[in-house]
Amino acid sequence: MSNITPEIAIVIPCYNEQEVLPLTNPVLTGLIQRMVKDGEIAASSYILYVDDGSRDNTWNLIEEYASESALVKGIKLAANSGHQNALIAGLETVADHCDAAISIDADLQDDIDAIPRMIAEFRRGYDIVYGVRNSRESDTWFKRESAQSFYKLMRDLGVNSVYNHADFRLMSSDTIKDFLKFEERNIFIRGIIPGLGRKQTSVFYDRKPRQAGESKYPLKKMINFAVDGITSFSVRPVRMVFFLGLGFLLVALGIFIYVMIRYFGGETIEGWTSLMLSIWFCTGMILISLGIIGEYIGKIYTEVKHRPRYSIEKYIK
Ligand code: UDP
Ligand code: MG
Repeated sequence: MSNITPEIAIVIPCYNEQEVLPLTNPVLTGLIQRMVKDGEIAASSYILYVDDGSRDNTWNLIEEYASESALVKGIKLAANSGHQNALIAGLETVADHCDAAISIDADLQDDIDAIPRMIAEFRRGYDIVYGVRNSRESDTWFKRESAQSFYKLMRDLGVNSVYNHADFRLMSSDTIKDFLKFEERNIFIRGIIPGLGRKQTSVFYDRKPRQAGESKYPLKKMINFAVDGITSFSVRPVRMVFFLGLGFLLVALGIFIYVMIRYFGGETIEGWTSLMLSIWFCTGMILISLGIIGEYIGKIYTEVKHRPRYSIEKYIK
């Protein structure tokens, strides 16, 4: 156990969170004050809100909280850059100004009581501490099932990720700096962290329902997120296309032999139905395959452009 009390930064991406921030802010500042008093963390610990280009009152609230308390800092992204990029903006901002950072969603679905336990593990010498959900009872049936099958699919496709862990985690500042060397634009943070190595462990907690406001992950974003997660880590789908093609070739060979036998046997073939069927079927398969390949080409396209992931408009330090 280290003797120094660590300086902790809590990084919170916020997109249109005006309903939930008034609930979240007192709870988190209270937690920090308590931990500082108990000597678990340094008095210079703080919360960094990252306003991800919100269109509502979120930034005004952040400014208000920052003026009321030295514990609160904020950055405002110039445009909505997405949860993962907002998180990276926050981590990049705190990397040189903390011993460890904890990322958590604004809606406090993740139990903040896990935070002191994460810090205890950090002080025991762990560099990465994952917050892992015990159950998903508070989520809707659909969200639970879709998330569950997503984790399974990721695992089957060989993506290194922690089951039932989202973006609630502690990372030491050195780990954050390692992570920031990954410069890809199509980024799926939770797939990268386990591969960084270093000493890692998990703390478990029960996930609660959202306290206020709506989920910022509607189905469309969830699907995009899942596709990004898979295609930015695994080339297996492209390989599957190859084997699919191989399978088709074998079937075609079988059909060729069959047709030749019938032909030399002098039988005429009423081929219309089978012809139509195979045209549609094969075209479908070709389109699917092209779609998968296109997905990767799209990724290459965005990577080679090497655009900035976000731009920060304002700082409150
Ligand atoms: N978020 C963000 N940018 C976005 C979408 C979401 O910063 O474009 C933030 C959001 O404010 C929240 C976190 O990401 O703090 C997770 O979003 P949400 O709770 O809506 O997702 P869910 O828990 O429903 O998966
Ligand atoms: Mg949430």
